[in-house]
Amino acid sequence: MLRDLSDSSLLKCKGFVDGKWINSARQERFAVRNPATSQRIAEVESLDAHDTRQAIAAAQKAMPAWQALPARERSAVLKRWFDLIMENQEDLALIMTAEQGKVLAESRGEIAYAASFIEWFAEEGKRVYGDIIPAPQTDRRALVLKQPVGVVAAITPWNFPTAMITRKAAPALAVGCAIVIKPAAETPLSALAIAELAQRAGLPAGLLNIVPTGHAKDVGDEMTQNPIVKKLSFTGSTPVGKMLMKQCADTVKRTSMELGGNAPVIVFDDANLEKAVAGAAGSKFRNSGQTCICANRILVQAGIYDAFVEKLVETVGDYRLGNGRDKESTHGPLINPKAVADVTALVEDAVAKGATIKIGGVHSTLGGCFFEPTVLTDVNQTMRLAREEIFGPVAPIFKFETEAEAIALANDTEFGLASYVYTRDIGRVWRVAEGIEYGMVGVNETAITSDVIPFGGVKESGQGREGSKYGLDDYLEMKYVCMGDLNAYDVAP
Ligand code: NAP
Repeated sequence: MLRDLSDSSLLKCKGFVDGKWINSARQERFAVRNPATSQRIAEVESLDAHDTRQAIAAAQKAMPAWQALPARERSAVLKRWFDLIMENQEDLALIMTAEQGKVLAESRGEIAYAASFIEWFAEEGKRVYGDIIPAPQTDRRALVLKQPVGVVAAITPWNFPTAMITRKAAPALAVGCAIVIKPAAETPLSALAIAELAQRAGLPAGLLNIVPTGHAKDVGDEMTQNPIVKKLSFTGSTPVGKMLMKQCADTVKRTSMELGGNAPVIVFDDANLEKAVAGAAGSKFRNSGQTCICANRILVQAGIYDAFVEKLVETVGDYRLGNGRDKESTHGPLINPKAVADVTALVEDAVAKGATIKIGGVHSTLGGCFFEPTVLTDVNQTMRLAREEIFGPVAPIFKFETEAEAIALANDTEFGLASYVYTRDIGRVWRVAEGIEYGMVGVNETAITSDVIPFGGVKESGQGREGSKYGLDDYLEMKYVCMGDLNAYDVAP
């Protein structure tokens, strides 16, 4: 396993703290498994609260010199990091597919996507402008400075093991912060590999620390309680995000929360059928349905419903489940056996309440973590999968009659991350885009993410934005400076 890496030194199994590869204080390790084979790929050091405290202290020590550098010099280091990630794209993709399961093409894509945030913020970091406010008094001037927020802690999920890290680390480092990151226990190897490349890029010790652990709660408690940490950036499930926000309240830390979604894809009768099916399928089944912006509910207007179902079933019938390393595989496994059990329970609940399985619906004969790509009809809002994040390859297709009904259905959830609408009516595009309560709306398009756009949600999908010119704000404090008594220093004519 992973013996074919061109550069085997990218496979790291220790924590990365203060520029050193360290063992855990507890002398404990945890296993990382390949979800396609259940084989153990690596034993990784399991760091604890003590190690996390060390990492936070190292970040605090390293930050002043980094912050004092001109933005251009920080940018140069980040650009070298970007280059190294792209030069090692294939190895990084192999590591990702081994621990996460997604097919190699998707892993390569994620590495490029992850790297793009570093390139983007290397540039944006040079544009942290302040402001001069016209003062109400003639002898005063009012200024706004933007300064790095301080030491940042980040907790990230397994579904995008590299990109969810660079979306946080790149803006934090670009503006002069230092960061301590806890990757998901399923996917620490991707995080550790890019830390190795950051070091090779010349990032000074202590600015980027990676704390792999089998004790998420202990590490999370330290990150949220340690007064040195000024900001927590979390990507993961809504329940864990809510808990971490509460924990951050005691030291009034700033938080960014990228949480769960329940994305509707609304397809109107006038939509381009081919494009709507391709878009919905791409959104639903990417990463085997394990993305926060995955189509969770496909809402199709009555006039186009039957044709849409037929075409989606045909599309899904062409998918090939398999190990992400195999060229023929179009879709990989779910992350672990619990994910298979959760998706199975959602399908069983829907079927018990009247849903019809058009294709799939079962644990694959491949066994392990594979679940058959599934299409369900006769679904309604009483079913669990209408309310909960499915996080698996199950596409429920709901039927609606009117635009008002579609908007109401789309908004009938506590989530508000991504949403999509397919129609060729320009007036309807505006009515729906303005009427639905989501942080992101794709119109006749579901591939909506990139480094240049503000990614984030509303309602219980979170707060803050990642990527784009807005992504820096989450790592900056605003400081107002009032300069007074200026007339006293006038030079006499
Ligand atoms: P999760 O269970 O919330 O875990 C996310 C991270 O939180 C992991 O690193 C996990 O560590 C850690 N964690 C869990 N319990 C913790 C605790 N008590 N204290 C501190 N850390 C704790 O979510 P997941 O299943 O990995 O990821 C899927 C979720 O992420 C979905 O809801 C998805 O929608 C969301 N997501 C959102 C976005 C977005 O941008 N909005 C992007 C991607 C994913 P361990 O792995 O060690 O348990």
